[in-house]
Amino acid sequence: MVKDLAKFAEENGIKYFMISFTDLFGGQRAKLVPARAIADMQEDGAGFAGFATWLDLTPAHPDMLAVPDPDAVIILPWNREIAWVPANCVMEGKDVAQAPRNVLRRLIGEAAEKGMHVKTGVEAEFFLLTPAGDQISDEFDTAAKPCYDQQAFMRRLDVIREISDHMLEMGWNPYQNDHEDANGQWEMNWDFDDALKTADKHSFFKFMTKCVAEKHGFRATFMPKPIEGLTGNGCHVHISVWDAPGAQSKTNVFAGEGEGQTGELGLSERGKHFLGGIMKHASALAAITNPTVNSYKRINAPRTTSGATWAPNTVTWTGNNRTHMVRVPGPGRFELRLPDGAANPYLLQAVIIAAGLSGIGSKADPGKRHDIDMYAEGHKVRGAPKLPLNMLDALRDYDKDKALKEAMGAEFSAAYLKMKHQEWNDFCNYFSSWEKANTLDI
Ligand code: ADP
Ligand code: MG
Ligand code: MG
Ligand code: MG
Ligand code: MG
Repeated sequence: MVKDLAKFAEENGIKYFMISFTDLFGGQRAKLVPARAIADMQEDGAGFAGFATWLDLTPAHPDMLAVPDPDAVIILPWNREIAWVPANCVMEGKDVAQAPRNVLRRLIGEAAEKGMHVKTGVEAEFFLLTPAGDQISDEFDTAAKPCYDQQAFMRRLDVIREISDHMLEMGWNPYQNDHEDANGQWEMNWDFDDALKTADKHSFFKFMTKCVAEKHGFRATFMPKPIEGLTGNGCHVHISVWDAPGAQSKTNVFAGEGEGQTGELGLSERGKHFLGGIMKHASALAAITNPTVNSYKRINAPRTTSGATWAPNTVTWTGNNRTHMVRVPGPGRFELRLPDGAANPYLLQAVIIAAGLSGIGSKADPGKRHDIDMYAEGHKVRGAPKLPLNMLDALRDYDKDKALKEAMGAEFSAAYLKMKHQEWNDFCNYFSSWEKANTLDI
């Protein structure tokens, strides 16, 4: 555990620190700080004008200080004299309540008070595009079913191998990499960890993947649906809850014996209610897990060229079947398949914990298990809510969900809704070619 960043710099030959925080829209913001100044910055934080980022602050607000979390420091494997360190935002001595890493830390604290330690793994899919971002980078990657394509893999081996090497070096325990379901799409998997650690790794993974891709002359994107007609970028989250954090954890509370594990679910009572919370708040939490206008081109999408979108459209759960919003692949954990690549890594973890804790509090029932192919037989399911059709619907669902808004924090929720409604209004002021094509001659 790193405590003193100045000492860490001395011991590791670090010349600069990149002090980084994440704003409401998931943007990572940083200052590059020479090692000579890091002792003071560790104490006081690096100063930022919050209004200049996507946070609900005005130009008149005092400086926002990003105080680095030394335990989360990572040496850039591709530039070993620089270390990246995520920070917590503070203003006038108090945590900025709307800052995503603070929202997550508070919820982790609330779960811990109940003896629950959430561990998650994320599957952050991405595309490798041309530098302009308008097409996939490999002109020969054109198969109708390109998933696991061995030959296409070899044409991007240098990029994927380099990122995988970096994860090995950082000790993340990466275990597989594959060409995903869309032309130009990739997935790289590493081991699950405590929610805050996963959120930091998820942030760093996006940063690292973009950096390595750029070095090779490509552009990596996590955009939910970057290419029309192709499968989009999901960011599935696998979730379990344990009795203790980190390496001290022994018992998986979701699989806990003596809690009356139900055969049907492979989940304990608490696991069942946690899942119940996710199901109950699904339409509202989509405002966080699917946060952009483009997100709604991935869920509710028409069939893609590969034959399936692999994304849900309805609030249903099942066993080991990838056509539903929630899959229980085996005992003691479940997979939320709703989130996409635009999800803010901190808010993603936070909203899962918020919904799960709310479900445990209200002993929420996840409802009936559906063992059908949702893409083919979804119309047969009665009573299951449909996911929001666009960002505005999701924001309205979030606004209506008092319990979730409260659990995420009133100040955060107000700030998020305000900024996201502004973004929606901005989108509505944009004139699209579709409008011209469909309205010109009316
Ligand atoms: P799939 O594509 O089948 O959904 P992946 O292997 O791509 O699964 O990703 C699974 C993720 O789930 C990994 O990050 C893995 O470490 C994580 N995971 C496995 N077991 C658990 C668990 N008990 N709790 C949380 N995450 C888990
Ligand atoms: Mg200045
Ligand atoms: Mg996967
Ligand atoms: Mg995948
Ligand atoms: Mg998955």
